[in-house]
Amino acid sequence: MRISTLLTSSIPFGHNFFNRRALASSSLAFRFRTMADSSEDSLRKALSEKQSEVESQGNQVRALKEAGAAKTELDAAVKALNALKLEKTSIEKNLQAIISGPDGGSVNKEAFRQAVVNTLERRLFYIPSFKIYGGVAGLYDYGPPGCAVKSNVLGFWRQHFVLEENMLEVDCPCVTPEIVLKASGHVEKFTDLMVKDEKSGTCYRADHLLKDFCKEKLEKDLRITSEMAMELKEVLSNLDVLSAEELGECIKRYGITAPDTRNPLSNPYPFNLMFQTSIGPSGVSTGFMRPETAQGIFVNFRDLYYYNGNKLPFAAAQIGQAFRNEISPRQGLLRVREFTLAEIEHFVDPEDKSHPKFSDVAHLEFLMFPRDEQKPGHSARIISIGEAVASKIVDNETLGYFIGRVYLFLTHLGIDKNRLRFRQHLANEMAHYAQDCWDAEIETSYGWIECVGIADRSAYDLKAHSEKSKVDLEAQEKYSEPREVEKLVISPVKKVIGLAFKVDQKKVLEALEAMKEEEALKMKTDLESKGEVEFYVCTLGKNVSINSSMVTISKEKKKEHQRVFTPSVIEPSFGIGRIIYCLYEHSYYMRPSRDGNEQFNVFRFPPLVAPIKCTVFPLVQKPEYEEVSKVISKSLTASGISHKIDITGTSIGKRYARTDELGVPFAITVDSTLSLRDLRTWADVWSAFPHHSSGSVDE
Ligand code: AMP
Repeated sequence: MRISTLLTSSIPFGHNFFNRRALASSSLAFRFRTMADSSEDSLRKALSEKQSEVESQGNQVRALKEAGAAKTELDAAVKALNALKLEKTSIEKNLQAIISGPDGGSVNKEAFRQAVVNTLERRLFYIPSFKIYGGVAGLYDYGPPGCAVKSNVLGFWRQHFVLEENMLEVDCPCVTPEIVLKASGHVEKFTDLMVKDEKSGTCYRADHLLKDFCKEKLEKDLRITSEMAMELKEVLSNLDVLSAEELGECIKRYGITAPDTRNPLSNPYPFNLMFQTSIGPSGVSTGFMRPETAQGIFVNFRDLYYYNGNKLPFAAAQIGQAFRNEISPRQGLLRVREFTLAEIEHFVDPEDKSHPKFSDVAHLEFLMFPRDEQKPGHSARIISIGEAVASKIVDNETLGYFIGRVYLFLTHLGIDKNRLRFRQHLANEMAHYAQDCWDAEIETSYGWIECVGIADRSAYDLKAHSEKSKVDLEAQEKYSEPREVEKLVISPVKKVIGLAFKVDQKKVLEALEAMKEEEALKMKTDLESKGEVEFYVCTLGKNVSINSSMVTISKEKKKEHQRVFTPSVIEPSFGIGRIIYCLYEHSYYMRPSRDGNEQFNVFRFPPLVAPIKCTVFPLVQKPEYEEVSKVISKSLTASGISHKIDITGTSIGKRYARTDELGVPFAITVDSTLSLRDLRTWADVWSAFPHHSSGSVDE
């Protein structure tokens, strides 16, 4: 495209323009990417084939045993099975030890990570916070390119979710009064299990120490038996759901000690991750820095519902800081103590979780890992989201719709679809009230990382806040015609109950009125046959005697004009910093210099994400070319396109190396003609074609 066309075109410059450019990327770029994934892909393919062979050989061994086959035949089959298992383990190990770089080579995970992190720190994508004072673990600043990437990611999030679904965006305070987080359960339960070095007092996350131990044994200790390996794998897959007692037992059984000192460790105990503060000068009003943004939306439900014309479904969204006092943050930008969350709360009728736009995503296919398949040796498989919802692997259409939309969001940003999977929570991993829950996990040099949680949280949050605040957080469905419904009516006789229970009368009354239908009908039958029943009042913590003069229970027909209910909520929750770090790893590669003596770092960002979209420079140092470069720069600024103008006269190779490290996707070069170059393929073009020293390529 000639630059004049670009500058005079009426296309609004922004995401859409760059999206279109991204779609039009050349076949060279595609080939490059395919090569990059090939070695890891072939290992994965080999692993899945070996897994099938192991399963079929296992079935054969079982069949031989059941048929009472001869010992020699059985021994041979078992031997073949063991050999296959060994081959499978060896493939698994190879897969674990490498991570494919986009140059098609297999590089060591740690070395790869170090190269990415060095580039990120050197080019100020991020900076350890308070660095001149030695820094603070788990706190990071974003520097200029990091801020630009974050702003692009958030801009696209708003476009892809808030705008697309007409969501109601809110912006609530980070400081939150205690009562809100008591109602939500965070004050009591937002904890991780911690152990202390018994001599030095250093704290560690108990599950992390156990995880490190298991991984180290599995990866480095070749002498462990296959039974032990199975046991450790089992522990690893259940790590998230182990109780304090179970974790403590494992730590004792494996003799795990403090990593730095080898001192003994305390028993695990819960540590609340919220930062506590006080609101106002008196210090009597406790507050917390919010650990998530969702609560701000729940407490505003009534007003938002009214704003939406008292109609369901609707979604509210919030982007903001969240604070978690992580016990011992490791993994760089992935586990931090303050981070940006982008959360959606989609409120829906619990009796109708269909989604009008589900058909838009139903055809999408990607890696899914249903809970029943999460056993050692198994991995995620490609399933279409339409099929996953139809076969009830995913609980409902709305949840499925958001899973599909999250897939599109992440892959548009540049996350590699082969290193993205949706993993369903195990039954004991989910909160008791959750209906279904999936995490979007992205594979990095640290392993699979949860970046987005997508949960159907039922009506739990609204009910909890309604109960605590005594404000109805409900929705209504108005019937077009009144409907006749049969209703259970429990009518306690207050006078009799008052005389019988005196100070306890209120609690007995409330317990009678709160009886579930089944319990009330049983009481009715028992009262009719025996005249008196024992009734447990949980707020008193004891049984009381209820007789037939104290309550009447009946079923009555009533006409209803509307149904009142607490909406269910489906919550996609995005850790923006985690997504950005994964994007850095997925976009990074190294390319050799022209003479092959040096390696250059490159981020191949999609234009949508790139912190700087374009460089402008004259190919030859001439005042008139510099003048034109300045005019172009001015036009780009006026169009809101971030760019860098380079009139320093440094060599073309160096200029490209500088822009590569920042992931600049386009260059406008100026000589007797103006050219717009797509740099994402430039490195390939440079090495593949003869070129002049001026930097132009004979295309
Ligand atoms: P959660 O509420 O724990 O499901 O967290 C929601 C999202 O926040 C996760 O999917 C992560 O992407 C992100 N997240 C949670 N904890 C951290 C942390 N300590 N540092 C960075 N991101 C986090």
